[in-house]
Amino acid sequence: LKVAHVEANRPDLAIIDEAARLIRRGGLVAFPTETVYGIGANALDAEAVAKIFAAKERPAYNPLIVHVDSISAAREVVRVWPEEAETLARVFWPGPLTLVLAKSRAIGPEVTAGLDTVAVRVPAHPVALSLLAAAAVPIAAPSANRFMRLSPTTAEHVLKGLEGRIDLVLDAGPTPVGIESTVLDLSRGRPILLRAGSVGKGSIEAVIGEEVGYPQAFSSGSARPAPGMLERHYAPQARLLLVRADDTEALNTIAEQAVGSSERVGALLLTIPTANAVEHVVRMPDDAAEYASRLYATLHQLDSIGCDLVLVEAVPPGEEWAGVRDRLTRAAASGTRT
Ligand code: AMP
Ligand code: MG
Repeated sequence: LKVAHVEANRPDLAIIDEAARLIRRGGLVAFPTETVYGIGANALDAEAVAKIFAAKERPAYNPLIVHVDSISAAREVVRVWPEEAETLARVFWPGPLTLVLAKSRAIGPEVTAGLDTVAVRVPAHPVALSLLAAAAVPIAAPSANRFMRLSPTTAEHVLKGLEGRIDLVLDAGPTPVGIESTVLDLSRGRPILLRAGSVGKGSIEAVIGEEVGYPQAFSSGSARPAPGMLERHYAPQARLLLVRADDTEALNTIAEQAVGSSERVGALLLTIPTANAVEHVVRMPDDAAEYASRLYATLHQLDSIGCDLVLVEAVPPGEEWAGVRDRLTRAAASGTRT
């Protein structure tokens, strides 16, 4: 396995060309996007796409996001390009907004888990964009982690989960946004928010002048509307427990109990001033975007210290926190890893 260091803003084109050649030959290349690191394969090559599922140990019912470098390239992978898609793409692309649309014949069922829709976006990271331009094919790229685990925001995180399973990692340092893209379904009657992210529901509504709905509950088993919608997802190795904001007493009580049964305890705090019973306290930024950009790295770090339990102070209610709140809720969801 090769790790190639590239400058985030001015990637070395010789390295990008090598990565693009690997993609075109059916290989797997991990690369940074502005959200998290992705594990990329040629979206037009069924065998290459199958390798993504094998490397991630990802069940075949989970569709992949297809990355392209322009609106015109996006239009090649979809059958219909509605006006809302054009409007949103012009405002938010390149950027962390994924659109789900009826797929074109160019995209096979292995990419979409057999669905007749495809998820597509233009990532806002110079490394991802230059790789897409050099490869000149759409790149299917889910997050570069094992299924259910924390998404990677650094090349080290990628290696932790996928060492030996990929051909190349482009290392351009930490990814700026830090949580996965917002996913918006435009393939039905009205726009549906499938996954919260840093592009908020309100700003989407403001741009298209239309109300965005939420998906209906789905039954487990078959193809799901979106893998990010699994109840448990994005989870660290440690148990993660949400604690009410400002509830210092609850936090310390839970921590003392855990420490009493010789567990190693970490905490992500916002307003709770002290946590005497907690061994590893991380004070998180009170700005939602900064919190998001540090969330996974912080959880990766507490995992590597060997924390058994991570207590997370609930984040504020506002819409700008929706992406972070969603990830924390799923990371805290216990029980069946369906
Ligand atoms: P990841 O789990 O990081 O690979 O992200 C993949 C994301 O792609 C999921 O969370 C879904 O939200 C989204 N996705 C991909 N394809 C589709 C599709 N056809 N319909 C709905 N969502 C999709
Ligand atoms: Mg993922």
